This record gives sequence, structure tokens and C-alpha cells, in this order.
Amino acid sequence: MKTKNSQNLFNKSQLHIAGGVNSPVRAFKNVGGTPIFFKKSRDCYLYDEDGNKYLDFVGSWGPMILGHSNEGIIKAIRKQTSKAISFGAPTKNELEIAKLIKSFFPSMEKIRMVNSGTEATMSCIRLARGFTGKTKILKFSGCYHGHVDSLLVKAGSGLATLGIPDSPGIPEELSKLTVSIPYNDITALERAFNKHGNDIAAVIVEPIAGNMGFIEPSKEFIKSLFNLKDQHESLLIFDEVMTGFRVAQGGAQELFKVKPDLTALGKIVGGGLPVGVYGGKTEIMSMIAPDGPVYQAGTLSGNPVAVSAGTALLKQLKDANIYLELDRVSKLFLKGVAAAAKKNLIPFSYSVRGGMFGFFFTNDLPQNFEDVKNSNLELFKRFFQGMLEEKVYLPPSAFESCFISTKHSEEVILKAVKSAEKVFSKIKL
Ligand SMILES: *Cc1c(COP(=O)(O)O)cnc(C)c1O
Repeated sequence: MKTKNSQNLFNKSQLHIAGGVNSPVRAFKNVGGTPIFFKKSRDCYLYDEDGNKYLDFVGSWGPMILGHSNEGIIKAIRKQTSKAISFGAPTKNELEIAKLIKSFFPSMEKIRMVNSGTEATMSCIRLARGFTGKTKILKFSGCYHGHVDSLLVKAGSGLATLGIPDSPGIPEELSKLTVSIPYNDITALERAFNKHGNDIAAVIVEPIAGNMGFIEPSKEFIKSLFNLKDQHESLLIFDEVMTGFRVAQGGAQELFKVKPDLTALGKIVGGGLPVGVYGGKTEIMSMIAPDGPVYQAGTLSGNPVAVSAGTALLKQLKDANIYLELDRVSKLFLKGVAAAAKKNLIPFSYSVRGGMFGFFFTNDLPQNFEDVKNSNLELFKRFFQGMLEEKVYLPPSAFESCFISTKHSEEVILKAVKSAEKVFSKIKL
């Protein structure tokens, strides 16, 4: 495979951009080799600077749920830019997208728009502290909530990829206020609430974890979260930046039929442009300035171009059949890959919801971060590199989820299964 141009670009980028990339997981540190530089995308395909064409299972980490270069989104952006790019003042479009978001997420009685998932979770944390008057945050190891100081304790995603347990630069005084316990562990949850209950402002959780691979919670775990936060008058924040509009129209909270106090959204909600949203109960959201004293602001928040892209995508996601089809096609892929793994005596397990899935090189499906770390990460690396040679682009880390789009046809998926068969047959255990 030709990668000369990507290699050149990466070498030059390293002279001007920290680490050569604008977000760490892109650097391929976990899988080896140099990152691919892309220049074009359409439907389920990516085109790189060396003329290679790849089948994409990243989808810009979620937003490309209807495939790359979606006509509706492009049209909406063009129409908006012909009128205005930014005002820093309110627009009718913001009202429209707010109503649209609420129709998917009824728990979000009032919303506020920001510019990234990080900003959304950060604002939820400040609001929870302001509302409850308490200071501590309870989170789960391997869950990633953006690069917020208080939330970079035992976080997943890029930190897990690079093996950074806790980031330097965060004062101990602050990290002491974050309690991190294993995902899906009800005993640890009860113990944490017994010990810190009176001080816990909020529990923040990925209601389906997507940043330590893809891990579903047990029903009992979700139930315990609600019981314990009620008993101790803490708030429950669902970080649905990844799962929102992805595992189902209304995210994990729709699947589990629950209503968290606050929800953070990102990724899909901006249709590929930088948007974050947070929201929840009116009583809590009224604490935000200008109604209340908790301050949060953004010069470009609710930016007309970003909002037009998000609105155009959300409108198309009103069709619930999309999620059934994504689920069916994802399963088709994973069943095929699992069968190929089995044939070659390679340990393999997987989990799927809607347009999002994860697979692990271990026979027992992981339930938490430790389990994922104990899966065969070397096998992941070899599988990743093998698939890349086959022109299939997977997330460059065993600690990330995979994403498919409505443009991934059955035919394309079966071809990808054939590629996996070929790669497995060459991997020596
Ligand atoms: C991606 C992600 C974030 C951070 O969003 P950014 O837009 O990268 O700041 C937060 N939480 C979860 C669950 C995510 O997957």
C-alpha cells in the first residue's frame, strides 16, 4: 500500500503541530505506523493523500451516521453561508434545533448549546456543583467525558490508548474531588456513596460506554445509579456525547426508559461541525446565567452554520427504521468476523447497539476497563494493520468504538468480512 504522501505530511506536521495531530488518538501510537492523511470522503468511503480508498468504520467518531458528504447537510450549510456565517446574537435556527433536540430527548426540558462535548460535560459538572452546593464527582474508570480537568481521572479513549492513568497539569486539590470506580460494579457504587454520599454533587456516566471499547451496563447497574443518586440527593449526568442519536434516536436513555437529571450531547448533534449541547430539568437549568448565578457562555455557541448542519442531520434521523437497519447490518458484520475468528482459533467477543459496536480479542465479553486492558491488545494491533492493508479503516485503538452508516450496504459489509477472514488466516497466535 502506498503511504508516502501521508508519511511526508506527518513528518512535516510534527514540526508545526504538537505531536503532528490535533487530537492524540489520531497519531496511531497504539497501533504503530503513521496516521493516514485524508482529503475526501463520500458515503462509506474515505480517500487519502496517496490515492487509496478505504471503507470507513470511524465516521468522524459518530456524526457520519448517514454516510459522508450527506446531501441534506451540504445543502443546508450552503444555504446558511449564503445568508450569514455568524452573528454572536440569537437566531430562529437555534429555537428550531432546541425543539428538535427535545423531541429526541424528552428529559432535556431546557438546553444550552456549546461548541464541543468537552464543554457540555464541563458545564454539567459546574451546574451540578452550583445546584447541589456539593463538590465531589463520581465517575467510572474507562469512561471518557472530554478533557475536563475534573474528569481526566482514570479516563478512557486517548488516555487509555496512550497508557496515561491521570494527566499531569491537574492539581491534586482538584483530582481529590473526583472519585473513580469500576463500571458495572454495584458493590463499588454502594461503597462510594456510603463513604462520600453527602459530598457527591453528581455521578457522571456513559450510559453505554464507548471509550473503552463498547461496553453495555447491566440493568441493575443503571437502576442502582438512579436509586443511590436519589437517596443521596446527587444529580445523575448521562454523557451521551457518543451514544446520543447513535444507539437509538433518543440515545441510551430511550433504550433504558430512564430520565437522567442532566444530559450532555455532542458528535452527531452538529452533523460533523463542532457542536455540544447540555440540558435537563428546568429547575436545574434555571441556575444557569442569565436566569441564575452559574456562569457559562460561548462567543460562537449556537453558530448558524453549525446549527444548520445539525438540524439537517437530526431531521433525517426522525425515521426510526434507520436504527433497526444499522443494527442489522452491524450484526451481519460482527457475526461474520466472529465466525472467521473462531475458524482461526482467535479469541473474540463483540457487542452492538444501533450504529455503534465494539469487538475484543478475548472470549468473555468485557464488563469494565480492567477486562478490556486484559484482552489481547497485540492481536488488535495486528488486526488493525491487516485490515488497513485491506483498505478497511478501523478506529486506531482497542479502546474506541466502531461506527457504521446507512451507506454501509450488505454487499460492502460482506466484502469487509472477507477481508477479516484473510487477515485472521495470516495472524499467527
Ligand atoms: C467524544 C466524547 C466527549 C468529548 O467530546 P469532544 O467534542 O471531543 O470534546 C465527551 N464524552 C464522550 C462520551 C465522548 O465520546
